[in-house]
Amino acid sequence: MTQLIAGNWKMNGTLDANVALLGALAAGLGPQTPAQVAVCIPAPYWAQFRVLAAQHPGLKAVALGAQDVSAHASGAYTGELSAAMLKDFGCRYAIVGHSERRQYHGETDAVVAAKAQQALAHGMTPIVCLGETLEQREAGQTFEVVKRQLAAVIHINGHCINEIVVAYEPIWAIGTGKTASIEQAQEVHARLREQLKAASAQAERIKILYGGSMNAGNAAGLLAQADIDGGLIGGASLKAADFLAIIGAAR
Ligand code: PEP
Repeated sequence: MTQLIAGNWKMNGTLDANVALLGALAAGLGPQTPAQVAVCIPAPYWAQFRVLAAQHPGLKAVALGAQDVSAHASGAYTGELSAAMLKDFGCRYAIVGHSERRQYHGETDAVVAAKAQQALAHGMTPIVCLGETLEQREAGQTFEVVKRQLAAVIHINGHCINEIVVAYEPIWAIGTGKTASIEQAQEVHARLREQLKAASAQAERIKILYGGSMNAGNAAGLLAQADIDGGLIGGASLKAADFLAIIGAAR
């Protein structure tokens, strides 16, 4: 399947810096790339992205993504952004359940599942993040933790899970420079694939991305694994050359 390389800018960017970063990305990408590419950028810059995408042919193939979406459709939820709003701005993807949201904003498995449901209901692809802490890995709980996190999403989304993207992101590897080894990553991906297969006859087409300090040097090895269908890239997506190198390593 075509791999997906999605950048997660987190809370980074300025109007000027975005022009430089997206311009460099556009210059390095042809109008067509073998991989699918997305950038999940802060909401205030979605309109700017649309303007730049109209100017740069190299951004034509780059999809826009959000870093979060509300679990609610609309109403008195100050500060939240609904799936309908994301859709209005042309978002194709919405990251849900990133470990930073689970950790700093207390998002539970049920909330993450409801967020995925909102994205799906509005025709967007939720990128559902899962992953264990270092403590959980050392206690031998990795499979149990990611299974529980994914089960919550499968439970309320039923057959719609064919439309999700899963991102396995071991928390201890995010922003730390410590990448899961190729074997560690593939092992978890294979287990997640089994779980998806038990829930859907079309599980083979559900992308499972790896995230956690993926960079220009380690991307090729990770992306060559049978069950690794792309990457969710944090820090390295803020440097055009690094992000382009990762895209170049994808199939
Ligand atoms: C992320 O935050 O999704 C991520 C993978 O970050 P990094 O690549 O910086 O580890």
